[in-house]
Parts: sequence; structure tokens; C-alpha cells
Amino acid sequence: MPDAFADLVGQDEAVETLRRAAAAAAAVLRATGEPEVAGGADPGGGMTHAWIFTGPPGSGRSVAARAFAAALQCVHGTGCGECPGCHTTLAGTHADVRLVVPEGLSIGVNEMRALVLRAASTPSGGRWQVVIIEDADRLTEAAGNALLKAVEEPPPRTVFLLCAPSTHPDDISVTIRSRCRVVPLRQPAAEAVADVLVRRDGISPEVARWTAAATQGHVGRARRLARDPQARARREAVLAVPRRLTGVGAAFDAASALIEAAEAEAEASVAEVDAAERAALETALGAGGTGRGAASAARGTAGQLKDLERRQKSRATRAQRDALDRALVDLAAFYRDALTMALGAQVSPVHLDTAELAEAGARSWQAEGALRRLEAVLTCRAAIEANVKPRIAVEAMMLALWKG
Ligand SMILES: [Zn+2]
Repeated sequence: MPDAFADLVGQDEAVETLRRAAAAAAAVLRATGEPEVAGGADPGGGMTHAWIFTGPPGSGRSVAARAFAAALQCVHGTGCGECPGCHTTLAGTHADVRLVVPEGLSIGVNEMRALVLRAASTPSGGRWQVVIIEDADRLTEAAGNALLKAVEEPPPRTVFLLCAPSTHPDDISVTIRSRCRVVPLRQPAAEAVADVLVRRDGISPEVARWTAAATQGHVGRARRLARDPQARARREAVLAVPRRLTGVGAAFDAASALIEAAEAEAEASVAEVDAAERAALETALGAGGTGRGAASAARGTAGQLKDLERRQKSRATRAQRDALDRALVDLAAFYRDALTMALGAQVSPVHLDTAELAEAGARSWQAEGALRRLEAVLTCRAAIEANVKPRIAVEAMMLALWKG
């Protein structure tokens, strides 16, 4: 049976919460008079104006937010997955559902103000205005304040759905958090992810099993790994790093290779949309015209193009960091495998295909050496998160991995 929540893997508790809230929201719409949404007063099944979906990457925060949005727009109020409300929401074309996906490193105040303003309008479909903010932890302080105002005094038919790694004050301000209902999502079990890949994507059980394990329950990454040969090649290159670290020169080479692979991956992911945006802007601005009018227009055009280039550069930086972070997560898992083997822990390895190599590492490094290497990778991630130049952080990591 189709269902808006079908893609939310291994999150039975959250689904239950959201279904109850959607039913409560539908009841609000059916009631006569001005709809009045219960705030924190009805924690049992109630609907409220602001929600935060938290959980580790890949747990399905944005999938949950979209499914809930669909249930709110569903003509049956259930998230049936089939009606026009569900369908257009899930396809991203519903007129009353706005999705904010930060392209750069942060969501700016202007973007947020425009969004809040539009969210206050009456829903054209007669149900709810829904605003989904992916990566709400990337709100700038000013943008957070603009959002806070809207969340504090929400228009009667507006619902904000925020996605963030956690409710830690680093991720979401305490004041916004205090106005929201939190839906915690957990890391889905690898078996649940594998099951979905087989059932929904038609991937063979064997491939589904190792990709689900290798991506540690991240549904989107597991799917890509199963389907995209380039993603598999990139992962293999990353997992070859431990073997390649034979000296100082090799460590620097490995650092360069890792950085360049992340750059190439990021470039491929943004190149197409960059070119399309530029072409669209040039057409809109009437580039290529001649004469006096065109010359003065060109001066204004230069500013707009510069603006676009700045946004594209910010997006490219983000894409590079994300690609590099994925590589570091894979690498960390390799050393974690070696550590658990050295400790004799009864857990199955993340990377089934490099288990032998991890086993050899476990024997020669012992638990202590494996732990030091794991820490070197995690330190590198933290340093990049704290804005250390990626190349410097990765070189330091490679040297630490080589020295052990
Ligand atoms: Zn529906």
C-alpha cells in the first residue's frame, strides 16, 4: 500500500507521533471557526506550529519532514501517498510547501525573511503553509532571529519543520528549540536499510547487505553506492589509503589524492546546475545585445553575475566539504573496524570488503594503535568543521596515520 511515510526506514516511533499529529491537524481543519492549534499543551497526539527533526546524517530527517508535510496536505489527513496533496508534496511541487536547502555554508537572513513573509500568507490549497528547513543548524544568527519571530507568533495555518543533527545549542538556538516539538530519529539498523533497498529499489540482497553496512545505515548513501559505479570507485580509493601510507612522501600524496578526489566529486555535482543558472541569468539579462541601452544594462548585469558567482562559490565549498567528510567517515570506519577486531568485540565490521586488511591492522597495531589512528581521522573531521583549511587538516591526519 502506498504511504507517505514508506521511505522513513526503521523509525516506527517517530512515524506514530507524526501520524497522530497529522490526524490532530486534520481535525483542526474540520472544526469550524478560526483554526486554533494546540501548542505544548497536548503532548500526547497534538499538532503544533513548529517541529524539529533530529538525528544523525542519513537517519532521514528531511524524509520525515517531507512525509509529515505530505500528511498535512493529504486530503484524507493521513498521508495516504496517493492523493494530489500527498503526491505534489512528495514530488516537491505543492504550492503551499516550501523547502529551504542551504546551498552555501549558511542560510542568510534575507532568504529567511522572504520565506517567513511568504509563509504567513493564506494557504492556497486551504490546508497548511508548510516550511521545511533542511540543515537548520546552518542558520546564521540573524536568520535564526528572523525565524524565531515567526515561530513565536505563528500565523494560524503555518507550520515550520526544521531538520538538525541535534538540539544541542550549537545546532539550534535554545529559544527556537523551546518553541518546537522535537522528533528524534535514530540511526536505522543496517538490516532495515538493506530491506528497503531490496524492496523499493530492486537491488539484489547481497549488494544491499554490504552497501547498507558500509554506509552505516545511511539510506541515501547506500542506494548511491549500490547503483553508482563512480561512488564505489571513490570509496575504494579512500579505503586504499591505509595500504598506501608507506612513508612521509606517500602520506602527502595520499592527502593530495583525497583532497583532489573531493574537489572533483564536488565539481561534478554542481557543474551542471551552475551552468544552467548562469545561462538562465544571462538570458534574463539580455546578454549579447548591442547599442547604448545594452551597454548600460551590462553594467548592472556585471553586479548580478558577480552575485551569482559568489553564491555558486559558496555552494561549491559546501559540496567539497561534504564530499571530503563522506570520505573521512569511510576512513574512520576502517580504523573502527580494526579497533573492534583488536578488542575482540563481537560486532560485524562496517566495511565487509576490507575486513581482512582491518584484521591485519588489528594484529600489528593492537587496540591502542588502532584507537590512535581512529582519533587522527576524527580530529581531522573536527578541525575541518572548525574551519581549518582542509588540505592542512588532511595532511596532518595522513602523517599521524603513517606514524601511528
Ligand atoms: Zn494523501
